[in-house]
Amino acid sequence: MKTIDELLTEGVEGRRVFVRADLNVPLADGVITDDGRIRAVLPTVKALAGAGAKVIVASHLGRPKGAPDPAFSLLPAAERLGELLGAPVAFAQDTVGPAAHEAVDGLEPGQVAVIENLRFNAGETSKDDTERGEFADRLAALADVYVGDGFGAVHRKHASVYDLPKRLPHYAGYLIATEVGVLKKLTEDVSRPYVVALGGSKVSDKLAVIDQLLGKADRILIGGGMAFTFLKAKGYEVGTSLLQEDQIPAVTEYMARAEKQGVELVLPVDVVVAPGFPDLKTKAPTEHTAVAADQMPEGQLGLDIGPKTGELYAAKLADAETVFWNGPMGVFEHPDYAEGTKAVAQALVDSNGFTVVGGGDSAAAVRTLGFDENAFGHISTGGGASLEYLEGKTLPGLAALED
Ligand code: ADP
Ligand code: MG
Repeated sequence: MKTIDELLTEGVEGRRVFVRADLNVPLADGVITDDGRIRAVLPTVKALAGAGAKVIVASHLGRPKGAPDPAFSLLPAAERLGELLGAPVAFAQDTVGPAAHEAVDGLEPGQVAVIENLRFNAGETSKDDTERGEFADRLAALADVYVGDGFGAVHRKHASVYDLPKRLPHYAGYLIATEVGVLKKLTEDVSRPYVVALGGSKVSDKLAVIDQLLGKADRILIGGGMAFTFLKAKGYEVGTSLLQEDQIPAVTEYMARAEKQGVELVLPVDVVVAPGFPDLKTKAPTEHTAVAADQMPEGQLGLDIGPKTGELYAAKLADAETVFWNGPMGVFEHPDYAEGTKAVAQALVDSNGFTVVGGGDSAAAVRTLGFDENAFGHISTGGGASLEYLEGKTLPGLAALED
């Protein structure tokens, strides 16, 4: 994989460089609530602009349906990028149309333009190679060189991630180079004990990684929504908690395999339950109680690991040499259900080992709960991407940069 350093050595003065970034930031009423992903691409954009490139930054945001939708405009991200760069950033109100060409044609060396949300064009995410290829051709017409730096999207076989680099000289940006370096450390010669904490809500996405980690990790701590599929598999009642019944056989097999291979698969011993899902907008106080994991009341749902589990997981993390954490332990967006996530985050902060946080929401949790990012070894910008890498899958966006 050629990196941006090689590109800078070749020289970029006056060349149009397309940077596929991941500016898919969380927004609340049009306001960015966490700009971590924008800050993550700054080194690449600054280096290119500083070397006199005409920089075109592109990204997706959310899941618009293949057509322009103002609710998913990239404009707020472009504005924030400009603030962070301390320089004006041009914004094109289309992706490959006249506005994009005008914005790019208007760039002087060292200037930056952002084009509109790539997913406003159905070709970006199309499963049809021809349709994707056509969009990639039109994107390629905007630029001379491609720099891949949208780590959070490299597991997607999308036009700007997979097809475009095949059409232009291509390089990995600093973010992708860093992320891949960290993931290599987790897969090759990992320092032990290697402890993995998994939570979040995307249960089916995350169960697959356990399969792979059973052969790698020394300890796996389970929290978040997926914990309930495990607890149910153990025969406990889980009320109205998040549950994937169809995964119970898989989970049962994981538990048996963990036992056989001497991998500690640790489940919550207590959980915080409530009669309903909390209001994340008002964050109004809720009725909630901590109960033993095998005593969950009917009709209530588990929204966080309990305090005993928080302590248990902190103890299980204390001697780790390597930690990978993906997925909040509870619905941390509401203060009544943030304690479990805080306990795990604090254990990583206290750890002397190499700690990696992966996942958009996990990274946002760390920041919004007031932890110092620098207290972690690495905060990854890509949840799905890092999980698929750890699963041993080929990531289209990395494969395209390799060729
Ligand atoms: P990441 O983005 O870090 O990969 P996910 O997207 O998988 O994480 O999950 C994050 C979401 O999981 C958060 O919005 C959080 O509220 C939710 N979550 C955590 N625990 C639970 C739970 N017990 N029930 C429902 N949702 C949960
Ligand atoms: Mg998420």
